[in-house]
Amino acid sequence: MTRVLWDWIKELLIEPFVSLNMLFFDLGLNERERTADKVTRDAAEAILKYKVGVKCATITPNAQRVEEYKLSKMWLSPNGTIRTVLDGTVFRAPIIAKGLKRFVPGWTKPITVARHAYGDVYRNVEFLVEGKDAAGELVLRMADGKEQRKKIADFEGGGVLQGIHNTDKSITSFAKSCFNYALSVKQDLWFGTKDTISKIYDHRFKDIFQNVFETEYADRFKSVGISYDYTLIDDSVARVVRSNGGFVWALKNYDGDVMSDMVASAFGSLAMMTSVLVSPDGCFEYEAAHGTVTRHFYKYQKGEKTSTNPVATIFAWSGALRKRGELDGNEPLMTFADKLEKATLNTIESGIMTGDLVSLYEGNNARAAESREFLKEVKKILDSM
Ligand code: NAP
Ligand code: MG
Repeated sequence: MTRVLWDWIKELLIEPFVSLNMLFFDLGLNERERTADKVTRDAAEAILKYKVGVKCATITPNAQRVEEYKLSKMWLSPNGTIRTVLDGTVFRAPIIAKGLKRFVPGWTKPITVARHAYGDVYRNVEFLVEGKDAAGELVLRMADGKEQRKKIADFEGGGVLQGIHNTDKSITSFAKSCFNYALSVKQDLWFGTKDTISKIYDHRFKDIFQNVFETEYADRFKSVGISYDYTLIDDSVARVVRSNGGFVWALKNYDGDVMSDMVASAFGSLAMMTSVLVSPDGCFEYEAAHGTVTRHFYKYQKGEKTSTNPVATIFAWSGALRKRGELDGNEPLMTFADKLEKATLNTIESGIMTGDLVSLYEGNNARAAESREFLKEVKKILDSM
């Protein structure tokens, strides 16, 4: 369904206003099949080269899609491939429109969650210790053959044992992406781990962040008037709940997995969540956080009316155009990006919205519009700006 929205957004809201000079990569399943997924890698390389990309939601094939599209292989998730090429971090930020209910009323400004996407429990190795007594140890073997051992636990009867890791390289990339993104949106960066309990593992995250900050970012943060704040993760969670939002929250892999779902649902709707992939050297790829909205597409295909929310995809475009404008010193392009966002929010705030938002709307003048009708209303406002 997002592919349909994508074309309408371009037709109604982008092409009449901006003369686009961009490379296009078709990440549809047919083209990925035809090129043995080279097209995805080419797209990622292009983002590395030109620094900015905007992406439509894509299908990650499962067994059913392999059948439906007659695929020779269950191609990898395009987002995974692009993230690997860019070595990037994903930042998810809610879009806030007046009149839409927030489950945490104090969160008047967006909270952007940055999840570290490598290692820890997601690359664990684990044992089930079955029944008998056993000794669990951690062994580190250096390239020169030297070994260090630590006892984890003696088991009297059954239990469980787990080994996890992370790398300085990945933590450093994560830190740089976070500092770059905070600078880009001019918002404070918060980070928290459990370094008091995990005096080596979590402490390493704290130290690397602090070191990267002091050596490469402290001056730039000062010059735009933002700060980097480190606290213990539990204190961080408590402060986030009491805050008004308006900052970037960097989280270790597991914390980010959990907290991103909490923050997203507290802000109301997945359809109002944007996602930006940022590489450590400052390349940006914008997209909506939701998927292709398959269920709506099957209805659309049958000629039924659908009211799929295009807002996050519109904001992916505005984000990318604004970033392009910033990098090229193109003021009119940045102004257009602001107007596009404003026109979209004004439309919702005037009571015209897609069906998914109606139940979240606190006014009594809500009108559910079909996707294309909604886009035309946005265009009307944009034309008048
Ligand atoms: P989804 O496309 O996000 O949709 C899940 C449900 O959320 C929809 O059925 C719809 O609920 C609601 N929803 C999501 N976005 C909406 C919008 N813009 N407007 C209105 N409602 C919206 O997730 P999925 O169905 O699990 O995945 C579909 C495909 O997307 C899969 O092939 C998956 O691989 C892919 N995917 C891609 C990305 C990406 O490219 N970034 C991310 C996630 C998933 P109702 O049906 O109740 O209206
Ligand atoms: Mg999760």
